[in-house]
Amino acid sequence: MLQSYKNNVLRLKDKVLDVVYPGHCPICDELLPYVETTDGSISFGRMIHRDCAKKIRYVRGNTCMKCGKPLPGSEQEREYCRDCAKTRHVFDRGFSVFDYRSISGSIYKFKYMGRQEYARFYGKATGRLLGKELRRLGIDAIIPVPMYKPKQIKRGYNQADVYAKSVGRELGIPVYKNVIKRNKNTLPMKKLDARGRRNNLKKAFNIARNDVKFKCILIIDDIYTTGSTIDEIAHEFRIAGVEKIYFLTLAIGQTT
Ligand SMILES: [Zn+2]
Ligand SMILES: [Zn+2]
Repeated sequence: MLQSYKNNVLRLKDKVLDVVYPGHCPICDELLPYVETTDGSISFGRMIHRDCAKKIRYVRGNTCMKCGKPLPGSEQEREYCRDCAKTRHVFDRGFSVFDYRSISGSIYKFKYMGRQEYARFYGKATGRLLGKELRRLGIDAIIPVPMYKPKQIKRGYNQADVYAKSVGRELGIPVYKNVIKRNKNTLPMKKLDARGRRNNLKKAFNIARNDVKFKCILIIDDIYTTGSTIDEIAHEFRIAGVEKIYFLTLAIGQTT
C-alpha cells in the first residue's frame, strides 16, 4: 500500500518535472511537443521542431585546412582561409558544426539565458556531422575553454563545459574541466584590435594540474572568431608536452 503510494508520488513528481521543465526547441524556443506513453508517463521524443531544423546551416563543403572555416565561393581552390594564410596558429586543426549566422540566436540563449538544455541537440548534431572524423583522431581528453571563476559563478555555468559534456557523452571521450584555469577576466575579443587581443590574453591561462599526461586533446568552445583564445590554451598544452591539439566549436562564420 505504502509502496504503491510512494510509486504514485514519484511518478507524479516525474510528470510535474516534465511539465515544469519540458524541452524547448533550440531554434524558436517554443515548447516541444510531447507524447503520453501507455504507462501514463510523458516522453519527449524530439529535440527540435522539424521545420526549425531546416533553418540550420551546417559547416560543409570546402573548408580551411587549419581552422575549418567554410571557404567563400571565390576561394574554393585555396587550402587555407585568408586569416590562416597570414596567422600562425598553435593548434593543429579545428572543426565546427554550424554556420554562425543560422544559429546565433540559439547560442545567445544557450550562453546568457540559461538554456543549457540546448546542449543535448548540439551534442547530437556534432556526433552526426563530425563523430566519425573526431573519433579517428585518437583524442584522449576533451578540454572546455574555461571561464573566469567569478564570472562563471555569476552566470551559474560555463556554456563550453555544458557543450563539452554533451559532446563527450556522444563520442565516449572523457571531459576534463579543471585542468586549465583562466586567471583573469579577459575583455570581449570583438572589441579589440589584433594587438589588444594578444595583450588581453597574455598569461590569461595556466595549467592547474601537472599529473595529467595527454597526447591528443580536443579544446571545446562555443564560437570561433580569431582563434586567439584557443591558441593561448594550445600554447600552454604544447609546453606541457601535448602532441596533437585540435579544437571543436559549435559555430563558425566565414572569413571576415
Ligand atoms: Zn522550433
Ligand atoms: Zn582558416
